[in-house]
Amino acid sequence: MTGRPRPLIAGNWKMNGRVKPALAEIGRLAARLRERRRLGCEILICPPATLLAPIRGRLRELGVGRRVRLGGQDCHPAREGAHTGDLSAEMLSDAGCAYVIVGHSERRADHGETDALVRAKAAAAHRAGLTAIVCIGETLAQRDAGQTLRVVGRQLAGSVPADAGAGNTVIAYEPVWAIGTGRTPTPADVARVHASIRRWLARRIEDGNRVRILYGGSVKPDNAAELLTVTNVDGALVGGASLKAADFWAIVESRA
Ligand code: PEP
Repeated sequence: MTGRPRPLIAGNWKMNGRVKPALAEIGRLAARLRERRRLGCEILICPPATLLAPIRGRLRELGVGRRVRLGGQDCHPAREGAHTGDLSAEMLSDAGCAYVIVGHSERRADHGETDALVRAKAAAAHRAGLTAIVCIGETLAQRDAGQTLRVVGRQLAGSVPADAGAGNTVIAYEPVWAIGTGRTPTPADVARVHASIRRWLARRIEDGNRVRILYGGSVKPDNAAELLTVTNVDGALVGGASLKAADFWAIVESRA
């Protein structure tokens, strides 16, 4: 782990949240943070775009604006233009984001996103000065067919742009069958896949040994410590359990 940036615990709120209850959760998170002056990990929240400004404002009001990073859940490859409903990486940066998730399996499935598109989105994130969290992971059928490492290798090769490095890219390994299902791979399975991702990064990227690799897929307070201490796991991408500050904080604490 030496030389790698601090582990990252990232919450992906997906299409959940209204202003009032979201700000109440942010208040609870801020209270925990104020009780703990130093943390061993970086905290990131990726809310729906409608909540970025209110959350940013509340974090600042509560004096923890520098301790919680904000991120988008997707971005368009272009800087601006006629793309109704989309957001550019530059817009996310303007809204206070430091990160953006690209290639989440839900976007790959719901919107037919290809590796090439994900790569263009990651490159757009870099252009705007954001860190891209590039999501990869196999389906259950691919896993059952013994294709996990091949699928993950293909997604890395197709989705990670040429200018990727530890300062602008994080990889999130998220087995599709583990997302939102309560099922998780064994720590040994996670170690095997993360080791293979690490080998790929070390071969292809100058500082690939320093690129953080997150695990995502049904991370909860009761399994976080076990998953987050696996070799080459540099944090977590958390969906459902990031919506409640108490659960998210318990995951943060297991890596802090
Ligand atoms: C996710 O969607 O990135 C995710 C990991 O979801 P969950 O934690 O709910 O499985």
